[in-house]
Amino acid sequence: MSELTQTEQDSLTGAPQGRSAETQEQGAAPAPARLSAIFPSYARYDLSLVKGKGSWVWDDQGNKYLDFMCGLAVTSLGHAPEKVGEKLKAQIDTLWHVSNLFHIPGQERVAALLTGNSCADQVFFCNSGAEANEAAIKLARRYHQKVKGADCYEVITFEQSFHGRTLATLTATGQAKVKEGFLPLPAGFKTVPLHDLEALKAAITEHTAAIMLEMVLAEGGVLEVQQEFLDAVVALCKEHGLLLIVDEVQTGMGRTGKLFAHQHYGIEPDIFTLAKGVASGFPAGVMLGKGYLREAFSPGSHASTFGGTPLSAAVMEATIETMLEDKLPERAAEMGDYLSGLLREKLADTPFVKEIRGKGLLIGIECKEPVAEIVLAGQKRGLLFVQAGPNVIRLLPNLYVTTAEIDQAVDILSELIHTYANTANGEVSS
Ligand SMILES: *Cc1c(COP(=O)(O)O)cnc(C)c1O
Repeated sequence: MSELTQTEQDSLTGAPQGRSAETQEQGAAPAPARLSAIFPSYARYDLSLVKGKGSWVWDDQGNKYLDFMCGLAVTSLGHAPEKVGEKLKAQIDTLWHVSNLFHIPGQERVAALLTGNSCADQVFFCNSGAEANEAAIKLARRYHQKVKGADCYEVITFEQSFHGRTLATLTATGQAKVKEGFLPLPAGFKTVPLHDLEALKAAITEHTAAIMLEMVLAEGGVLEVQQEFLDAVVALCKEHGLLLIVDEVQTGMGRTGKLFAHQHYGIEPDIFTLAKGVASGFPAGVMLGKGYLREAFSPGSHASTFGGTPLSAAVMEATIETMLEDKLPERAAEMGDYLSGLLREKLADTPFVKEIRGKGLLIGIECKEPVAEIVLAGQKRGLLFVQAGPNVIRLLPNLYVTTAEIDQAVDILSELIHTYANTANGEVSS
């Protein structure tokens, strides 16, 4: 990609064409304070990104960044993917929205693609990860209230998990910070430590309807679930007649090197959920379930105005088709091996780095100290990445990322980490 021309920069910053910002008249009114009319619920970086193509994004000053966060695992096909854009534009000229009171052929095609490539048989369309998990919890409750009775409604989740920000999904989330100030929380949730089988067994009662977990706890620090533990969870579900819900909102859609992360483990969840990578940045969520859960929902029992509209379905269909045609899960596995191998090679010498882990192109670098300053320093060097908890650097490049881009990102990251390790407190620099 070439740098932006001055005209492009001007059109992005709103500066009059043909002259740069510096040549504007003196005494112009100061720019209004940013975000004044927006609730301050986000800690935002001091950057406004205004254009993207492939692995690259540009800010409103025309600076270019290599994007290794992808809107938090959302733009997995890169920014403004052409094939998806073409389908979106064609659908814009055809039909945007009709109610779910009508058949929507695009939904049927997306459902066929998803069920044809997974263990699921049924899908429900919504607009976000939280809503997909909310639908999963509702389906589990409805199913068990029919099968085991009205007293069976509880969902067991794990510490450090993240399942969303609605009242039910933040209650399911195993992190205190998302619950602050929102009491009382809905009843029917229990959280136990990850990989603590005894605690899990002790938490199961006649009220338990489901166990819900991520295959890689992404927000919680890129923690991979151990095969042995997951096998035990599956066995407990079988023994007690519980539903297994896998939250694939971040791990799904090729990110980890398989289309769905649970496929690494050879298990079949009863229910799993998707959102982030499923529509290239168009808001969409999906809850998928096994055929025997079908009748738990009946007409009127759950709904979403914007779930799977013709526009949303067209973007999902194009995204999933592209992902399958271009074998992006396999590519994520390959590039993930290359990226984590290179990180291990370049960072092996610094005790500042404790562990490099993850699956495919969902990679965490656990450090001995908080990494917030490294993230900011990365932005100054033209590389975007995020944290997963205070001490973990999380890398989420798009699934078309090239080895050259990986080399470039690792060079910057390695330099930043070495510099930081040598200046941080002195004690970790040995
Ligand atoms: C992001 C995320 C969610 C919430 O998705 P939203 O679209 O923000 O509601 C839920 N679960 C996991 C694992 C996530 O990463």
